[in-house]
Amino acid sequence: MEAIHTRSSDSGRAAPDATTPRIVILGAGPTGLAAGYRLRELGYENFVMFEARGTVGGLASSETSANGFIYDIGGHVLFSHYEYFDRLFDKLLGDEYQLLLRESWVWMCDRFLPYPFQNNIKYLPREVVLECLLGLIDAQKQALDISRFTNFEELIHGVFGKGIAKHFMMPYNFKVWAHPPKMMNKEWIGERVSVVDIQRVLSNVLLDRDDAGWGPNSTFKYPRHGGTGGLFERMRPYVDGNLRLNTRVVGVDLERKEIVLDDGSREAYDVLFSTMPLDLLVSSMFGDVPDEIRSKAACLRHSGSYIVGVGVNQPSPSKKCWMYFPEDNAPFYRVTYLSNYSPEVVPDATRQYSLLAEISHSDFKPEDRGSIAERTIAGMVATRLLGECDRRDIADTHVIERDYTYPIPSIERDGALAALHPWLEQRDVYSRGRFGAWRYEVGNMDHSVAQGVEWVDRIVKDDRANELTYLAKRGC
Ligand SMILES: Cc1cc2nc3c(=O)[nH]c(=O)nc-3n(C[C@H](O)[C@H](O)[C@H](O)COP(=O)(O)OP(=O)(O)OC[C@H]3O[C@@H](n4cnc5c(N)ncnc54)[C@H](O)[C@@H]3O)c2cc1C
Repeated sequence: MEAIHTRSSDSGRAAPDATTPRIVILGAGPTGLAAGYRLRELGYENFVMFEARGTVGGLASSETSANGFIYDIGGHVLFSHYEYFDRLFDKLLGDEYQLLLRESWVWMCDRFLPYPFQNNIKYLPREVVLECLLGLIDAQKQALDISRFTNFEELIHGVFGKGIAKHFMMPYNFKVWAHPPKMMNKEWIGERVSVVDIQRVLSNVLLDRDDAGWGPNSTFKYPRHGGTGGLFERMRPYVDGNLRLNTRVVGVDLERKEIVLDDGSREAYDVLFSTMPLDLLVSSMFGDVPDEIRSKAACLRHSGSYIVGVGVNQPSPSKKCWMYFPEDNAPFYRVTYLSNYSPEVVPDATRQYSLLAEISHSDFKPEDRGSIAERTIAGMVATRLLGECDRRDIADTHVIERDYTYPIPSIERDGALAALHPWLEQRDVYSRGRFGAWRYEVGNMDHSVAQGVEWVDRIVKDDRANELTYLAKRGC
């Protein structure tokens, strides 16, 4: 596909133009919205966006419960790697955001310790501290050579040692990914694994020192209104007129270059920009799709989530942001004090607060949907987030269910992606975003926005060299 050039109208804004290729965007999550926003910013009008749901924002949207509590689809913390994203955030929200101190904790052995785990093992029972230290010393006897590890489980043991692997890294990662770490590759971590600093770990234990990892002024921004989704709702006016909500794409006809919508109608495209899950995109294609491509797409792995929001008729009992739960005394791997992010997510913050729990599931880790809210509350009692008598103050429970929440960096992933993306691009189909690119390491909100923007720049401005985020060559 050659670069597309825009044609400006007298008003300075490009007119829809039969001579410009028609771009169809599939999905109005952060990636699709950003692509539409960028097209408009560049004066390109010949595009349309289809979204299956009735709202924009995808996994970064928020839901309001029947009792008026607002919940995100899992704790969303903004770590921006891009100036463009920062400028966009400021433009959309102005000063309507909260600035929060990153503060995270791990619940283990009946107590909280500050994150990161390895720097704060002094909080644990002495025998666990010893097990962690001995494992670490053992691991450090071998020169750290990441290339000798063939999967994530080996990397965990090789870098952190047996004790930390047993008590935190293995159980926690299984709970998050819902896949055994040995099924995952180690490339997604790449250079981001900090070599454990044994001197620091030992000093913290012996000198009884707290070590929260990120600097004292590390902050993140959160929209004051509407939860995380409040940010992306504000992008909607920039794509209105080109956006069709409640319209699911059920098929892609590669030969005729048409998408098939859920009402049976068809829409022609010259270029298709898809942010739906890559495996579903390929399985929905008809025309000449080789078996090899179908099977590469089918081998991609993902997990789903239940997100359980709990509203309580009490003032917030804590200043914590989020907490990790590696043990099996609760179904969730993470809980966020969401109302500490913004008072606007509960009806009355002077006398109410909210918790947001995340539970992953997959074939390897099935979770019963019917009992998930009750099991979550029981887990909150078991981990002392709630007292038994606080149950009577629970004012709200709200379950959000999504089948696709984590794209697993499995052993087979990179081989599959290396075959799938070029094959699709030869047919003018570009798959981007958290589940479009299927690269977890560039699957956060800022990355997703960057993927949409960089793709538009590549297509409209022929800025091919800069489409690096989706390749995980930028933003990691
Ligand atoms: C539990 C959890 C925690 C997270 N925490 C963070 C965090 O702390 N910080 C952070 O930056 N990011 C976080 N994220 C990631 C963030 O949500 C994603 O970066 C972002 O939502 C990805 O945007 P996207 O547009 O690529 O995909 P999505 O958000 O998945 O959007 C895709 C859109 O396509 C639509 N769609 C799918 N199929 C079709 C179809 N057939 N037809 C039409 N429309 C379709 C969907 O309805 C959806 O709206 C988290 C995600 C999860 C699940």
